[in-house]
This record gives sequence, C-alpha cells and structure tokens, in this order.
Amino acid sequence: MATILLIEDNPTNLDLMVYLLQAFGHRPISCGTGEDGLVAALRDDPSLILCDLQLPGIDGYEVLRRLKGDPRLQRIPILAVTALAMVGDRDRALAAGFDGYIPKPIDPETFVEELARFLPDGVSQQCQRS
Ligand code: MN
Repeated sequence: MATILLIEDNPTNLDLMVYLLQAFGHRPISCGTGEDGLVAALRDDPSLILCDLQLPGIDGYEVLRRLKGDPRLQRIPILAVTALAMVGDRDRALAAGFDGYIPKPIDPETFVEELARFLPDGVSQQCQRS
C-alpha cells in the first residue's frame, strides 16, 4: 500500500485514477490544483505524485519546480499526466525534470502497473486487485 498524491483538475480523470488505485489497495489523495497539491505533499508525505500539466493556477511545470526546489519534497518522484495526442509534451515533461509520464486517457488495464516501478521496493508486490 502506498500513499499516492493525484493533482488533476479533470473530475472524470481524477475519479478513475482514485478508483483504480483503491482497487489495488493504494491510498490516493486528490487535489484539483497545484497549490493544494503542494500543501498535501508536505502534510501527507506521499510515495509518489501524479500531476496533470494543465491546471488552474500554477501549472504542472511550476508544481515540479517548487517540489524539486523544496528539500522536504524533492526526493518524492513526480510523474506528468499528459494527453496521449500531445507527443511533444512527453519529451518536454521529461526534459523539465519529471521522473516519468502517464498517458491520458488513463488505460485502466495498465495504469497501476505503470506506477509500480516508481514506488518503493516491495510496495507494489503487496498489492492485489480486490
Ligand atoms: Mn487539466
């Protein structure tokens, strides 16, 4: 079980990610803005952060900049959630310093599996689809 912070302003996408993470025994935390997400990151000490790039207020790149600039938060891996069609977004996200990316639309068959390699050792193996 891992605490995973989701920063996503699209409710449909957020609901799907929450559902899938809970189904695999993880503990998702939802935030609709980058500002709220950074507060939650300090408060809840997540093992992993998934962050949409386009958000109201600060965007995903600014969330990344603030996260990696904060000694209390910089060790937490952060993945960009990027639209599948926006091929350039992926390269730009990785170049900016995201640890990886998850394509949108979310693929329910592979989503949780894709996160496993970014979680601490052993965490994913303990999780079963319920
Ligand atoms: Mn968005």
